[in-house]
Amino acid sequence: MLPEGIPWRNKHGREFDMTQTCPCGRDRSYADCCGRFLDGPDRPEAAEELMRSRYTAYVLERIDYLRDTLWPRNQPLFDMAATARWAGENHWAGLTVIDVRDGGPADREGTVLFEARFLSAGQLHTHRECSRFKKKKGRWFYVEAVPE
Ligand SMILES: [Zn+2]
Repeated sequence: MLPEGIPWRNKHGREFDMTQTCPCGRDRSYADCCGRFLDGPDRPEAAEELMRSRYTAYVLERIDYLRDTLWPRNQPLFDMAATARWAGENHWAGLTVIDVRDGGPADREGTVLFEARFLSAGQLHTHRECSRFKKKKGRWFYVEAVPE
């Protein structure tokens, strides 16, 4: 049994439609939601927006976006190839944001607790993480996973 169906193909945008509901699960089109950040020109104003857009980047295999939104000091350690392989092998099945602390437009730090569901080798898995985000020069970055 799959939650909420799996409307998305994750293979390089196949069947991708800008007017479809955003993969992050918000009741908005991709263009009005995470597409503003993945394709520009906007930048997330809140940690939750960045978290959602990073999930969508996994779905659409936008590995460059995942690197560019990492805390700058961590970017050299980011393994593009391994991340691309992992994102491509999994079939992303939905995102639930459970809790948000700070991370608003006026904050400099914040955390987002979420669950991302994915199918891997025919099995449904849940990745649960409390992510820490920090702002630098007015821009949000993903720093690391922290204890809940
Ligand atoms: Zn979205």
